Amino acid sequence: MSQTAASLREQFPLLAAAPELHYLDSAATAQIHRAALDAVLHHETTSRANVMRGTYRLAEAADRAYGAARQSVARFLNADSADEIVFTSGATAALNLVAHAFGATLRPGDRVLLSVAEHHSNFVPWQMLRDRCGIELALIPVDADGRLDLAHLPELMGSRCRLVAVTQCSNVTGAWTDVAAIVAAARKAGARVLLDGAQAVQHGPQDVQALDVDFYAFSGHKCFGPGGVGVLWGRAEVLAQMPPFHGGGGMIVEVTLQATTWAEAPQRFEAGTPPIAQAVGLAAALEWMMTLDWAAIAEREDRLCRQLIDGLSRIPGLRLLGPLDGKRAPIVSFDMPGLHPHDICQVLDAGNVALRGGHHCAQPLLTALGVDVCTRASIALYNDEADVQALQDGLDHACRELA
Ligand code: PMP
Repeated sequence: MSQTAASLREQFPLLAAAPELHYLDSAATAQIHRAALDAVLHHETTSRANVMRGTYRLAEAADRAYGAARQSVARFLNADSADEIVFTSGATAALNLVAHAFGATLRPGDRVLLSVAEHHSNFVPWQMLRDRCGIELALIPVDADGRLDLAHLPELMGSRCRLVAVTQCSNVTGAWTDVAAIVAAARKAGARVLLDGAQAVQHGPQDVQALDVDFYAFSGHKCFGPGGVGVLWGRAEVLAQMPPFHGGGGMIVEVTLQATTWAEAPQRFEAGTPPIAQAVGLAAALEWMMTLDWAAIAEREDRLCRQLIDGLSRIPGLRLLGPLDGKRAPIVSFDMPGLHPHDICQVLDAGNVALRGGHHCAQPLLTALGVDVCTRASIALYNDEADVQALQDGLDHACRELA
């Protein structure tokens, strides 16, 4: 299959219909692939019914489609079993699920280790748990480039660390986490590891067994699928020990006036009607992703990222945030003293360049980097040199316009 950026771009209806658009905000939401849209439409027009409830043929078709979606996610993550895949409404819901359900197995004084680089969705649920249950939170610091500083991991874990919950890739700096080092230290301390894969999944299929973590969370809208759906993968034996998060239909064996018994995972964690068509659409996106040559895509994304970094570093006064060397995801954030990111984004929008300004739901990381807000460009598989050039031209224009 041809994999030029142009041929990939054509497969995204929104981008195909807007050739003038330079979309550089895929870290917030990637565009949806045609296969995902088609799968949602096909499901809704041929198999729409509730799941795990009906015995008529239409309901059985819905069950089959939903079950097949679970299988696709399991293949995308190289999970041992589809029973380890819990559908949620997104990464945020997946992280809250762990904070509640795994959190319910923690005792006051137990420790959860996070990093300063976390997205708020992997910060706030843990702070809420700390305030409810008296657990301790500890933080892996970051270096001047926003990379996790793992020098003092054993001390940070202490003697009662039960979970290390970190991002696989920063949504601000593009820095990849050294997962192997964290897993090694966590295993020594007897702690579980949760990886927030929200920014990793749009750069290719993942392997939770090779990563050797215990939980993995991501959102469908960041990997070319629909919004409103996400995934929590959990190691079977860990899920088995967790109580439910939400109560409701579909997650029980029996309800009496006195008590309820829980279904096994994954149903135990999917109370209520799940996002059925969205899961089917997500599966189509992941199936498509699994046909791609990711080495070639990574090479192009990396080349564009370097080109962007080179171009930006020539703009007087502009400060690039994040590591400039080593392996990084194609996410480039910068600060222009005196220019507010919202103004920069507005001027660029006039030239059809879509990028993001603000705190990026990572205020602790921005504080550590010495800024309140910044502007972020993120590159995905459908971007090309013209997008990077348009950003650079737009920024030159913004500097003149706003100075
Ligand atoms: N973690 C990271 C690293 C993210 O970038 C995001 C989304 N920006 C999330 C979690 C939360 O994802 P969602 O809003 O789709 O739940």
